[in-house]
Amino acid sequence: MHHADLHLHSRFSDGHLSPADLMHAAHAAGVTHLALTDHDTLDGLPDAEPAAQALGLCLLRGIELSTQWMKPRAKPLPNSKPISLHVVGLGLQNLAPMHAVLVQQQQTRADRAQAICQKLQKYCPQDPWPAALALADGRAEGITRAHLAEVLLQQGVVQRHQQAFDRFLGDGKPAHVPLQWMSLAAAIDAIRACGGVAVLAHPTRYGLSATHVRHLLAEFAQLGGQAVELPPANDPPSTRSMIDRLAEQHGLALSTASDFHGAHMPWLRLGHTPKLKDGQRHVLSLLGYAEFDV
Ligand code: AMP
Ligand code: MN
Ligand code: MN
Ligand code: MN
Repeated sequence: MHHADLHLHSRFSDGHLSPADLMHAAHAAGVTHLALTDHDTLDGLPDAEPAAQALGLCLLRGIELSTQWMKPRAKPLPNSKPISLHVVGLGLQNLAPMHAVLVQQQQTRADRAQAICQKLQKYCPQDPWPAALALADGRAEGITRAHLAEVLLQQGVVQRHQQAFDRFLGDGKPAHVPLQWMSLAAAIDAIRACGGVAVLAHPTRYGLSATHVRHLLAEFAQLGGQAVELPPANDPPSTRSMIDRLAEQHGLALSTASDFHGAHMPWLRLGHTPKLKDGQRHVLSLLGYAEFDV
């Protein structure tokens, strides 16, 4: 049996396992096809690839790009701001076009982490920057808001991961730093320039209304996006049927993915992926994996 989990994080972003350990954990969970998709970096691949090969796993080169998107409005509000969306690239062949766009993304990430830490200083008993940098193994360009949430937990400023977003890190909260990620179009173009497939990540986790999800999937497909992740199996059936319907309408294939990070995010479980319905096209079939053809 084939079992694909195509959205996974390692220590090269906000995951807790090394890429090699992640390959072992995925194998133990019965996964056969997988993708390492760290936030805005490809640096975990050299560690993941030999481990996957030794285990007989089919590993796709992947990434999760941070992008920004402006919600369409009948009348634009004077102070409307873009929201951040995630695009997963799968099956990257030639990595040069991706490395080229990552220079700016990584600079943005490192600068933002420092700016957030400055804002957090007045709430923390100790300077949060050294702890954040240590959690990201000294790679400032690897620091995500999830790491900053861990620092707030460690220092006792919050009691739960989610509280860190609700009180400090979320949009409009005191330590939020507005920033410029690449556009949705630029992310799709970079992924396709590498020979990969662009997948809209977790479309139901952006807090968008059904109307905005509809606009987003239409625009994503129109810009050259080729697939969308299915919502997790424990999402309401109405959410799932909305994505099923929109994928069909826009000719998008479907990706099965857990977005596993590690034991610190126990609600995202390795290998726990939703199932396709009859007749739906799996994204791996677009990438030439005949075992996933309908
Ligand atoms: P970043 O790319 O640095 O903005 O961090 C994104 C990561 O932070 C995501 O991949 C999630 O792991 C986590 N995250 C972002 N927003 C939230 C939220 N509202 N609640 C909980 N976790 C979140
Ligand atoms: Mn993450
Ligand atoms: Mn994401
Ligand atoms: Mn992710």
